[in-house]
Amino acid sequence: MMPSMIKSFFSRDFDYSPLHRILEIVAILSFFALVVVISARAISGLSVLGWQTAAWLVPLTAVMGYVGADFASGFVHWMGDTFGSEETPVLGERFVKPFRDHHTHPQGICEHDYVTVNGNNSIVLALYMVPIALFFTDPTQIWQLLVLAFSVTFTCGVFMTNQFHKWAHMDNPPGYIRLLQRFNLILTPTNHDFHHTAPYDTYYCITCGWLNPILERIKFFETLENVARRAFGIKTVHDQPDAARNQQA
Ligand SMILES: [Zn+2]
Ligand SMILES: [Zn+2]
Repeated sequence: MMPSMIKSFFSRDFDYSPLHRILEIVAILSFFALVVVISARAISGLSVLGWQTAAWLVPLTAVMGYVGADFASGFVHWMGDTFGSEETPVLGERFVKPFRDHHTHPQGICEHDYVTVNGNNSIVLALYMVPIALFFTDPTQIWQLLVLAFSVTFTCGVFMTNQFHKWAHMDNPPGYIRLLQRFNLILTPTNHDFHHTAPYDTYYCITCGWLNPILERIKFFETLENVARRAFGIKTVHDQPDAARNQQA
């Protein structure tokens, strides 16, 4: 993965604005720097407080961070799949279209290089990580340590989401990725297949997919859609005629 990742930083093979490409590269590099800062701070807090102080609390918080990333991936994906259309001002082209296109061309993601796959998530992550790095500077306070521990796995999970998603679509992912999929540590093709079945209204989470069966069972997104529709009169993709919906889905 390393050579293709480095190669993508210098590639000119992309079909969007060069300015956005530069922003993506800067955001990816910033992510690496910020995650080192946040992790190092959490480790220094642990070593001052003593590893036994937070022996079970820190790992638990870290798992919550990863599950939080899975939830965030599902929520954002659900928004992109459900509301608006490609014609929606501002967000239509950049946010809604990629989600809808992915249903008609699911294998398209396999052709995207490292920067394209991970750039946009890195840009959004900077908005979360910069304040964490600036304001959570005392890891000897247990609550700050927990926020830092949560943030490490949450941000790594969000950063890797689209990469895990891409690997779930690949016919031949690297062997170590298959192993992670087999142990259910990252999104598996089987889990994600449920989403790629019309009408594309379930299994939205794409980091590890652990929350998918739970959210499906409690009808989480269906309930949110009903609230949006009945309480606020917001139309969703499911309110459109079948023809239009299939075109977009
Ligand atoms: Zn989708
Ligand atoms: Zn997919």
